[in-house]
Amino acid sequence: MVKIVQKDDPVLRKIAKSIEVVDINTSKIKRIIEDMKTVLNSCDDGIALAAPQIGQSIRLFIVSPKAFEIMSKIEPKQDIKGGNYLVCFNPKITKTSSKKMLLEEGCLSVRWLYGKIKRSQKVTISAINEDGQKFERGASGLLAEIFQHEIDHLDGKLFIDEAFDLITIKPEEKHE
Ligand code: ZN
Repeated sequence: MVKIVQKDDPVLRKIAKSIEVVDINTSKIKRIIEDMKTVLNSCDDGIALAAPQIGQSIRLFIVSPKAFEIMSKIEPKQDIKGGNYLVCFNPKITKTSSKKMLLEEGCLSVRWLYGKIKRSQKVTISAINEDGQKFERGASGLLAEIFQHEIDHLDGKLFIDEAFDLITIKPEEKHE
């Protein structure tokens, strides 16, 4: 299985490259998506992953069905189309709310730090799906947080660049 690279890896600091629509259907890209799904699925607390986190500097992130399950419980009012992985190529934030929310955040590439960060409460992204089709999707709450966190990865940013009150919580200490 591929590994999730950790915060000092230079690939996490690169501006990832856009993907040509004609390349989305290639075996190379399909393989990367499969690798991302496998590794994300192996992390108990993983809900989304950007391609640079497995060493691939391309503009791609995926959101796990786990994330949509969580959202359907905590944000029942939001219209959640879930059940499957959400795959986003070349995502761009097209709208952000001026209203911010203060969130607790962590990252699979920054073990085991957690901190507080301000994010826009709502965002809209445009992206290209696995079939090469352009789509727009609005999100609030957790999904908006995920979109902002993952797009930051594609721009070489990590949440710890902006987060404060950072603390280390080892997995064995995480009892809720
Ligand atoms: Zn991350």
